[in-house]
Amino acid sequence: MEEKIKIVILGAGESGTGAAVLAQKQGMDVFVTDMGNIKPEYKDLMDRYQIPWEEGKHTEEIVLAANEVIKSPGIPDEAPIVKKIKERGIPVISEIEFAGRYTDAKMVCITGSNGKTTTTSLIYHIFKQAGMNVGLAGNIGRSLALQVALENHEYYVIELSSFQLDNMYKFRAHIAVLMNITPDHLDRYGNDMQNYVDAKFRIIQNQTEEDAFVFWNDDPIIRRELEKYGIQARLCPFAEAKEKGLVAYTEEEKVCFTQPTSFNMEQEELALTGVHNLYNSMAAGISANLAGIRKEDIRQALGTFKGVEHRLEHVCRVRGVDYINDSKATNVNSCWYALQSMTSPTILILGGKDKGNDYSEIRELAREKCKAFIYMGLHNEKLHESFDSLGLPIVDVQSMKDAVEAAYRMAEPGDTVLLSPCCASFDLFTSYEDRGRQFKKCVREL
Ligand code: ADP
Repeated sequence: MEEKIKIVILGAGESGTGAAVLAQKQGMDVFVTDMGNIKPEYKDLMDRYQIPWEEGKHTEEIVLAANEVIKSPGIPDEAPIVKKIKERGIPVISEIEFAGRYTDAKMVCITGSNGKTTTTSLIYHIFKQAGMNVGLAGNIGRSLALQVALENHEYYVIELSSFQLDNMYKFRAHIAVLMNITPDHLDRYGNDMQNYVDAKFRIIQNQTEEDAFVFWNDDPIIRRELEKYGIQARLCPFAEAKEKGLVAYTEEEKVCFTQPTSFNMEQEELALTGVHNLYNSMAAGISANLAGIRKEDIRQALGTFKGVEHRLEHVCRVRGVDYINDSKATNVNSCWYALQSMTSPTILILGGKDKGNDYSEIRELAREKCKAFIYMGLHNEKLHESFDSLGLPIVDVQSMKDAVEAAYRMAEPGDTVLLSPCCASFDLFTSYEDRGRQFKKCVREL
């Protein structure tokens, strides 16, 4: 009897357990191992498919006997078990790479430093509204592997982080979208920006001339890198100002799409506001246009999208003051875009776990848009150094409740209170979602 292929899966989260089900369905010999605790729902899923698993340890003799290892994007290459696997020469791939082998569906893949979730959700919304048979996967929603195992979609819209791209080799994106590249996660890339840039560019590997590469044309890093690659795919650059060769741009308050079908829509009709969301809307509109969705459907869907929680999410208006939750702004660049989209005097709540931030990037914009700062974190020293000299009112707090109350006291009708922290949340909160929900709760209790 032919021996079964042995697949070991490191990390029993959404992607790992999905990959396990798919591997099992493909008749492979599967084993799932996780150093931490596995969530009950994932244990149930694996038990239902009679997939063996372990938690709190990695049994080396099983792991190192694998023909191939599927690694969760959360596990770094420096983890001792990953090092050992690599020393043995066992191939390590991502769940997306694995799932891609077992489907002929068309893949629309989105990456970038900022705007991935918004753009991915927006593309999915347009495809759904247009009645396409489409699945949402990657960092959001259910894993691609589980959907490939249990469903049969014609299209998948997939959010890809650089960590997922790291372990992708043969996977082909029919439509690849690259929003932007700014420093992020450099700790996982040996503090070398080029490694991070290279990871992002893996999104176009294996593309052919039948595929398309959608990208923000004003990003200096993307522009520089483009010259290095002999790109086969159809290039679909977009930017705000009209320029030759752009596939989407704005002109006289309109967003113009040129190819494959040419159409316009009023910028005012876009559901999402702010210049960064203009880019996200353009990238989504181009992708839908490439997939052959009718312009009426694209216009309609770009106008009705509800937005994604914790991304410039309008919470409510209290005594004439708007409260906006942008808790997902975990780096300086995303806060820049949030500030840029503010149209009234802003009280900015920021701070948290700093990933080596350079606040000078937003200092001038903060001077223009902000009327006060609330520093919310265990270590606010760097914020003091960066912004105190602007001479605006400042409050230091160490809880969301205090932050919201301080903002409430300082705000006058017509102002905006913006939570856009520039930082990770792990000093005071369990996640950016926790931080955003606490903000909303405190605001609603005012
Ligand atoms: P990601 O999934 O890449 O983290 P999100 O769509 O979740 O991106 O948005 C995160 C934050 O980044 C938002 O709160 C917003 O402030 C900012 N942002 C969104 N889109 C863009 C963009 N195209 N360019 C720059 N910043 C953006």
